[in-house]
Amino acid sequence: MPDGSHARLPTLPVAVIGAGPVGLATAAHLLARGLTPLVLEAGPEVGHAVRAWGHVYMFTPWSLNVDKAARALLDAHGWTPPDPDLYPTGTELADCYLVPLARALGGVVRTGARVVGIARREHDLMRDAGRADAPFILHVATPDGLTGEIEAAAVIDCSGTWASPAPAGAHGLPVPGEVAHRDRIAYGIPDILGADRAAYAGRSILVVGAGHSAVNAVLDLAQLAQEAPGTRIAWAFRKPLEAARFGGGLADALVQRGALGARARALVEEGAVRALAPFPISGIKDQDGMLLVTCQTSDATVLVDRMVVATGFRPDLDPLRELRFALDPAVQAPPRLAPLIDPNVHSCGTVRPHGEAELRQPEPGFYIAGMKSYGRAPTFLLATGHEQVRSITAALAGDWEAARDMQLELPPTGVCSGPALASVAVASTEACCTPDTAQGVCCAAKPDLLPADAPCCGPAQPARTASCCG
Ligand SMILES: Cc1cc2nc3c(=O)[nH]c(=O)nc-3n(C[C@H](O)[C@H](O)[C@H](O)COP(=O)(O)OP(=O)(O)OC[C@H]3O[C@@H](n4cnc5c(N)ncnc54)[C@H](O)[C@@H]3O)c2cc1C
Repeated sequence: MPDGSHARLPTLPVAVIGAGPVGLATAAHLLARGLTPLVLEAGPEVGHAVRAWGHVYMFTPWSLNVDKAARALLDAHGWTPPDPDLYPTGTELADCYLVPLARALGGVVRTGARVVGIARREHDLMRDAGRADAPFILHVATPDGLTGEIEAAAVIDCSGTWASPAPAGAHGLPVPGEVAHRDRIAYGIPDILGADRAAYAGRSILVVGAGHSAVNAVLDLAQLAQEAPGTRIAWAFRKPLEAARFGGGLADALVQRGALGARARALVEEGAVRALAPFPISGIKDQDGMLLVTCQTSDATVLVDRMVVATGFRPDLDPLRELRFALDPAVQAPPRLAPLIDPNVHSCGTVRPHGEAELRQPEPGFYIAGMKSYGRAPTFLLATGHEQVRSITAALAGDWEAARDMQLELPPTGVCSGPALASVAVASTEACCTPDTAQGVCCAAKPDLLPADAPCCGPAQPARTASCCG
């Protein structure tokens, strides 16, 4: 390279975007491998996104939430680990784990540093020659409005999806009136019983969405309704009520998560929550200071004070425009990962272990990991992310054997709603999507990834090594 960039690569840090649980775990793995991490966090503190849902109890216990390399680093710094069987809130995850971890990482985290663009030095998207040897450059915006430039040898994007919630429109775009009435619409899981209580107490609320975030919001509103008379809850589903799964309910092996769904279902059945199903939303208008919400498929309407839209999240791809990356066109996850998690065919949390091979991008040295790697799929678990970054960092350190040696064992969720389940007589939900389940029985088969006789959710097959012309 004319400017000597190639010679500088080994001296440059590995940039990690986002100081959430997966970004900080990545930094711990990099340090353990003798590499230099630089974590860039947009928010004013580590765990910025986690703190936004800090009032929510996690459905996985501490034992599934702490990364192994992070744990080793924390232990070396005299950390007192929480009880592994307890379920933390988001705030506890940040206070008891992420903050001490950032401290133990020793000055590698920069907060107030939003990555707004990534490229390769002297190489726009089109240019091939010497591309893999060129350092990455990251444009980083600070709260004072200035943008600086940082060089890196590799980039691992762990920026999550929290800041890009999906809108109320079933088609994925905001419905007419949604943007105009943004002041009365919350996205995600507002702190209904805490900081945001006044906005909901004694009001009528429409919750939109059918996943775990919607379930959480409905349960909080139901508790509020017992304390604040006049609080009324309507819950809009896109599909008929018979199709609503309320998360996984009691079939979910993640017990806390399953219990939430079961409680929400009971609230609907008791009439404490008015279910509107199917109710794909067509528009939102103001009517005498309230929101009139209309349905796309019938004349039904609902009049409410506020809405909580919990229809999922999506990755922000804007900063990646000058990089060569590939994503599944529907799931927006890396193409080799997408078939394992596509909710159209695979609703199980029992995703088989995957790592560097499945997350590799056309741009050498660039990876998307953590929540963002799942694109729009809702089933991401921290334990999955920890194994992803263990594998990626092993590969960056040149330890390909460790990179391919996938070690993750997740509790099977026993939850599956893909088309394959409807068409095939599955013995019981317990038998669904375990490492012994044959491909195509529970979820759709994944022929491009595994031999046809490989299990549905079993361990990853070793990556094929190229033998052509070798
Ligand atoms: C309400 C809720 C409950 C959950 N409960 C569980 C659970 O019980 N168990 C489980 O395993 N998983 C759970 N998850 C899923 C998942 O594990 C969490 O979302 C987890 O926080 C994902 O970690 P992450 O590090 O990938 O992303 P995040 O935690 O979202 O962290 C990303 C970080 O990147 C920062 N960032 C974003 N954009 C930029 C940028 N351009 N530049 C710099 N920084 C940026 C953000 O500020 C944020 O701090 C839950 C998710 C939600 C939303």
